[in-house]
Amino acid sequence: MRLRSHQGITLRRIAPCDPFRKGLVFYEGLIAMDSGYEVVVVGGGTAGVVAAIQAGRAGAKTLLVEKSETLGGTMTNGRVNYPGLFHAWTHQIVKGIGWELVVKCVEETGASLPDFSKQQAAEHWREQVRINPFIFAALCDEALVEAEVTPLFSAMVAEIEVRGDHTRIQICTKDGLKAVRAKILVDCTGDADAVRMAGYGVHRSIKPQPASHLYSISGYEMTRADIQRIRQAFEAEAKAGELEYSDLGWSSTQFGERYLENTGAKTNHIYLGETRADSSEGRTVLAMEGRRSILRLYRFLRKQPGMENLQIDEIAPECGMRETVRIHGKATITVDDYVTGRLWEDAVCYSFYPIDMHGAEGVSKTYLDAGVVASIPRRAMLPVNSTNVIVAGRCVSSDQLANSALRTQASCMAMGQAAGAMAALSAMANVEVSKLPMADVCSLLTEHDAIVPGAPHAANPQQ
Ligand SMILES: Cc1cc2nc3c(=O)[nH]c(=O)nc-3n(C[C@H](O)[C@H](O)[C@H](O)COP(=O)(O)OP(=O)(O)OC[C@H]3O[C@@H](n4cnc5c(N)ncnc54)[C@H](O)[C@@H]3O)c2cc1C
Repeated sequence: MRLRSHQGITLRRIAPCDPFRKGLVFYEGLIAMDSGYEVVVVGGGTAGVVAAIQAGRAGAKTLLVEKSETLGGTMTNGRVNYPGLFHAWTHQIVKGIGWELVVKCVEETGASLPDFSKQQAAEHWREQVRINPFIFAALCDEALVEAEVTPLFSAMVAEIEVRGDHTRIQICTKDGLKAVRAKILVDCTGDADAVRMAGYGVHRSIKPQPASHLYSISGYEMTRADIQRIRQAFEAEAKAGELEYSDLGWSSTQFGERYLENTGAKTNHIYLGETRADSSEGRTVLAMEGRRSILRLYRFLRKQPGMENLQIDEIAPECGMRETVRIHGKATITVDDYVTGRLWEDAVCYSFYPIDMHGAEGVSKTYLDAGVVASIPRRAMLPVNSTNVIVAGRCVSSDQLANSALRTQASCMAMGQAAGAMAALSAMANVEVSKLPMADVCSLLTEHDAIVPGAPHAANPQQ
């Protein structure tokens, strides 16, 4: 393991006689919080964990602040454990640290990667990679330690003050408030929490897409259940207001027959209405509403002949948010930019997914034309008027339709890596993020196996 003198880290793999001490010695120096960092990443989810690993690997003294105790965010705590899309039109378009973690997880669990050689637009879901969320989170821990990033779990940002050449970040820890200084702040909270606290602007959709609480069921055989009878009973209870159609899936007006076809992973739609999902109050409502939907359906189904033994094996620790806020960035990606595959002059990564809007009627998808691949510019990751703040993940500056594709996991991971690289370069060279030469950003990213659109040696999927 490397030693980092400026950080004072002394990571040692030792085997002391006292097994109770062993674990603590392994983390010694890594977990102790310092008062100043070159890079502070807030949010260790899909984008944030990759951002922190990249910043650490680039040699920046990095702190990662995460509100839960499990890395991976929506991929792990939300149980949306099927990242996509890393390929477009049979070419790989997202690689680097996110891909490395996904492949490692697949190998470690004896699973296999999908066949990427036969992509059909409408069958994009076949190219999402199924991963074990528990092993994935543990692999993120391992990679973070190896990158010598200081992780801080059970901690949330409480206050942000941007002061010229650095940012003061108040963190709410279990011991009370603690302040750290960061040369560069990377907001990967998914909800732009740090950006909002710093006073930069965000957009909210008039009609935000519904959230979904994922869970898993077992214990019944469809052959023993009478689907017509269940449908009639369901419709009667829905009419009486006891059940919602969206308890059974993505339609708010139709009986979701497919729900009953098999056991395993299930999902619902939770409509946000006026609820602000970027607030703690809103999150409380949505998480409780998600579980209430699951519980009422569970109670109903167990009363149906043949389904008496239905069990809920798991409810995701967190309700999954499709959208909350999007930053007001120095550039905004529109749906037109996305579907025409605009190649931005400051593109840092590709993104590929259908426009994927969830609403009361279900899901509406618009597939990209053959050969089209979208890109994400650096400026969409920089809040207007900011100099030392970067955003990565679903709250990237974009309109609602473009965001419905940009929010997907491979795109978030690619943005995370770009954010980590730019943060490290900017902090170590004392150059404003927006003024970093794109050639330097591109060169660091490609050195770390990321694919940068337009880079001389990058595969061009649009050819
Ligand atoms: C139901 C559903 C289905 C989806 N289906 C797919 C799919 O099929 N394929 C696909 O690729 N994508 C899918 N997505 C989209 C994708 O999963 C998310 O958009 C993406 O994972 C978001 O990544 P992120 O890094 O922006 O946020 P997250 O992964 O949510 O990470 C945010 C992290 O920040 C932490 N955090 C938040 N606030 C704070 C704070 N104040 N202080 C400290 N830490 C904080 C959180 O705990 C979390 O770890 C789906 C999403 C949902 C909800």
